[in-house]
Amino acid sequence: MPLEMPDEEMLQKWAESTEPGIGFCFLCGHSIASEEDFIPGTSTHNCPEGRAFETMIASELGGQSADE
Ligand SMILES: [Zn+2]
Repeated sequence: MPLEMPDEEMLQKWAESTEPGIGFCFLCGHSIASEEDFIPGTSTHNCPEGRAFETMIASELGGQSADE
């Protein structure tokens, strides 16, 4: 029984590539080369998509504690 999932395919592609990396960013679709590629203090890839993701999270958290 073949299990076919798009995410698995992406991971397989990354695993088969010779691109060096410690992880895979699902936001931009690129491999993460090293820990320096993460946004400091997070486990999010430091790419435009990743930064937008972190900004979204930060604004959501900030909204909860903001003065009404
Ligand atoms: Zn990324």
